[in-house]
Amino acid sequence: MDNSKIWKASHFILIVLAVLAFSYRQQAATNITEKPKSSTPKNIILLIGDGMGVNQISAHNYENKNHSYFEWFKHIGFQKTHSSDNLVTDSAASGTAMLSGHKTDNTMVGVLPDSTPVQSFFEEGKERGYKAGFAVTSTVVHATPAVLYGHSVLRGNYDALAEDMANCNFDIMIGGGEKYFSTAKEISKTIRAKLKDKGYFLTRSRPTKKQLSQKDKIVWFTSDNDPLYALDGRKYLPEAGVLAANFLKQKSDKGFLLMIEGSQIDWALHANNTQKFLGEMEDFDKTIVRILDFAMRDKETLVIVTGDHECGGLAVNTGKKFKDLKIGYTARRHTATMIPVFAFGPGAETFTGIYDNTEIYHKMRAVLGWE
Ligand SMILES: [Zn+2]
Repeated sequence: MDNSKIWKASHFILIVLAVLAFSYRQQAATNITEKPKSSTPKNIILLIGDGMGVNQISAHNYENKNHSYFEWFKHIGFQKTHSSDNLVTDSAASGTAMLSGHKTDNTMVGVLPDSTPVQSFFEEGKERGYKAGFAVTSTVVHATPAVLYGHSVLRGNYDALAEDMANCNFDIMIGGGEKYFSTAKEISKTIRAKLKDKGYFLTRSRPTKKQLSQKDKIVWFTSDNDPLYALDGRKYLPEAGVLAANFLKQKSDKGFLLMIEGSQIDWALHANNTQKFLGEMEDFDKTIVRILDFAMRDKETLVIVTGDHECGGLAVNTGKKFKDLKIGYTARRHTATMIPVFAFGPGAETFTGIYDNTEIYHKMRAVLGWE
C-alpha cells in the first residue's frame, strides 16, 4: 500500500473502533448485567459519598445532561442517619453506625458513647481471613476511613488514629495525609517505622504493576496534607478504587472488603460551592462506573453506594435548562434528611426499604453469612 492508502486504512480502523466503543457504552448503560454466580457475595465494596443526599445526586444528574451511573442500580433503599446525641450526625458517628452497628455520639470514632471500643465490620473481616482496604479523597486518618480501623472519642485525635491505622493490618490503604506518618515529627516517625515493620510498602506515586503483584501490603499516600479538589486537579479516585479492588481480589482466597469514599463532596457543600461539589460528584460517579464494571465481570461482589449524611440543605430550584442549575442552600453544615442506599450484585435485594444506618452493618454481615 502507498502512504495515502495506509492513512485511509488506519483512519477507517480508528472510526470502526470509535463506533464500537460508543455502542458498547450505550449497550452497557441500558443492559447492565446483574447475573451473580450465587446469591451470596464473596466480596463487598462500600462506596460512601460524604455529605451526599438525594438532591446532590439530582443536581449532578441534571448537570450531566440528565444522566448518572446511579441509574444503573435496581435495588434502592433509604437509611436514617441520626446519631445517639443529635438528629444531625457527623461522619464519625454515622460511619461508626454503618461499620459497627452501634449508634454513638458525634465526634466519636469506633467507640460507644461511654467510650467503650466496638469492633468494626472490617476489623472482624480481617479476623475471619478476608483481605481489606480503603481508598479515599481525604487524609487516611479522617473520620470515615478511621471508623474502619480506629477507636477514639475525638475524631480529631489524628496521631492516635494514625497509630490505630498502623496496627490494623489492612492490605491496601490509599489517601492523603502522609504528614501523620512523616519523619519530621517524633510520634509520626515512630508510627511510620511501625508500618514498615509490619511489612508495608509505602509510596507517594501510583504503585506499578510489579509492585502490586510483589507487595502484600501497600499504603499509597496521595498527598502530604488534604488532597486537592477534583476541579483543582485531583484525578486518582476512579483508578485507585479499581486498583484496590483488583489488588485485593488477586491476594484473597476467602474474599475482600473495600471502602471507597468521595470525601470532599461534603467539604464543597460546607463551603456552599456548587461548581466544586458538582466536580466531586462527577469524580464519584466515574468511580461508581469503574467499580460496577469490576463487579459485572467478577460476579461475586456486592456493591453498595450510599452517603453518611446530607450537607448544605441543598435544593435544586426553578430553572429552565440542564447545566444552568439554580442551587439553593439552607445550611453550611449537615442536615438530618434520609440518605439513599444503592446496591448491585449478589445480596443487593437486602438493601431495599427504609432502615437505620446501623442496619447497613447487620445487612452486610447477613449477606456474607457471618454468625
Ligand atoms: Zn461535613
